[in-house]
Amino acid sequence: MSDAAPGKSPLTRLPDGTVKQIGPLTGTRVWTVPGRAHRPIELMREEPRVLAPGEATRLCAFCADRYLETTPEKVRLVGPDFAELRHVPASALFDTTAEFRRFGNLFEIVSAEYWRENHGFRQPGPVVAWARDYLSEPAGREHIEHLAAVRAAASGVAQSLEEAALDLVGGSHDVIVARRHVVDGASTDAELVSSGALTPREHAEYFGFTVRSLDEIARAQPHAAYVAVFQNWLLPAGASFEHLHKQLVAIDDHGPQVDHELRLLAGDRRLYQHAIADLSVEKGLVVAANDGAVAFAGVGHRYPAFEVYSRSRANLPWEHPATEIRAMSDLVHALHALTGVHVPTNEEWHYRPPDAAWPMPWRIVLKWRISNPAGFEGGTKIHVNTIDPWELRRRAVADLTALRREGRIADGIRVGDECRPEDARLRYAD
Ligand SMILES: [Zn+2]
Repeated sequence: MSDAAPGKSPLTRLPDGTVKQIGPLTGTRVWTVPGRAHRPIELMREEPRVLAPGEATRLCAFCADRYLETTPEKVRLVGPDFAELRHVPASALFDTTAEFRRFGNLFEIVSAEYWRENHGFRQPGPVVAWARDYLSEPAGREHIEHLAAVRAAASGVAQSLEEAALDLVGGSHDVIVARRHVVDGASTDAELVSSGALTPREHAEYFGFTVRSLDEIARAQPHAAYVAVFQNWLLPAGASFEHLHKQLVAIDDHGPQVDHELRLLAGDRRLYQHAIADLSVEKGLVVAANDGAVAFAGVGHRYPAFEVYSRSRANLPWEHPATEIRAMSDLVHALHALTGVHVPTNEEWHYRPPDAAWPMPWRIVLKWRISNPAGFEGGTKIHVNTIDPWELRRRAVADLTALRREGRIADGIRVGDECRPEDARLRYAD
C-alpha cells in the first residue's frame, strides 16, 4: 500500500486546471495552479563576466590550477582512457590533468572525528601509511600545514600535523570533481559545464567513477549504514562552487525516508512497480527509456522532478553490470542535457541500504530547484510546484527529440511514446 490515501488518486486534474498530487512514497501534497507553467526556468546571471587570460582554470578551489586548495587526492582519472591514478603525491599533482578526481571534503558533514569518537573507529594500516608518506615529502607537508591551518581557523581546534593528515586522508565524506569549470575556450564565466554539457562518454566515466567510489567508501567505513550520493548544481541548489561535482557521505543511519519505504515494502515487495512505474504508465508520464533504465516525470515532488529507475535485477549500484550502469548514466545525462546549464538542480541517488531486508531498486531523482518554498508551504504543508508532471513530461519529450537530432545524447534512448510497455517493468524484486 502506498502513501496515497485509499480511494484518492495520487494525481488528479480539477475542472479549473489545478493539478493536485500526493507523493506515493512520501505523502507530500503538491498543487500546481494553472497559468504559471510557462515562466522561464533558467537562472540567468545579471552580467556574465569576461574572463582574463588563464582565469578559466582558476575560477574556484575545484579548478585545475588550484589542486593544492583541496585535500590529498584519493584517485584521479587521466587521459583519453580515463586511467586511474591513486594517491598522487603533492609534488606530482600538476604532472597530469585530472579528468575527474576524488578527495575528502575539507568541511565534512560527518567528520573523521565523528567515526573515531562515536564508533571507536581506527584508521587501517594502509591509510596510516599513506598519511605518513604524504607528510614525508616537503610539498606534502606544506600542503597539510596549509589545510590544517584552514581547518583550525574554522573550528577553533588545533591538531598536530600527523592527526590532521590522518583525518584529511581517512575521512568518509568525499567529493568528485570534473576537470572543467567552464567550457574549453570560454570567454565568460557564464559558460559553465553542467552534467548535461559533458559528452555521454564523459558522463559515463564520471558516473562509473562515482559508483566505484561509493563501493570503496562503504567498504572503508565498517560503521556506515549508508553512503548518501548527491550532486548540487548552482548556488540556489546548495552548491558552494559553480564547478561540477558530486558528494558521497557515509552515515550511520539511513534516515527516516528509507525506514518508511521499508515499512511499505514489508507489505508489498513490488511497491515501486505498483506505486511508481504502473502509475506513470497509466497517467502517461513515461519520459524516456533504454534497455537498462526508465525515466518518469515524478508525482508528488516539491520541485519538478524526474525519476530514473534502474531496470536491473541488481539492487546495489556497484552490483550492476557495466552495461546497466551505463544505461542509468545515459538517461541521467540526457535529462541534465534537456534541463540546461543555468537551471539549479539536485541529483539524489537512492538504493537499498546493504543491511535492509527488502529489495529496492537503484533510482536517481533529478530536481529542478526553480522555486523557493515560502509562507504558504510553511503554514499548510501544501507545496506549490509551478510545473505539473504532464507539463514536465511534454517539455522533456520535445527537448529530448531535438537533442537526439543534434546528436547530443547517447544512442539507444527511446523517447516518449516510443517507449514500450516492457520498458516500465522493474526487475529489482525478481
Ligand atoms: Zn572551478
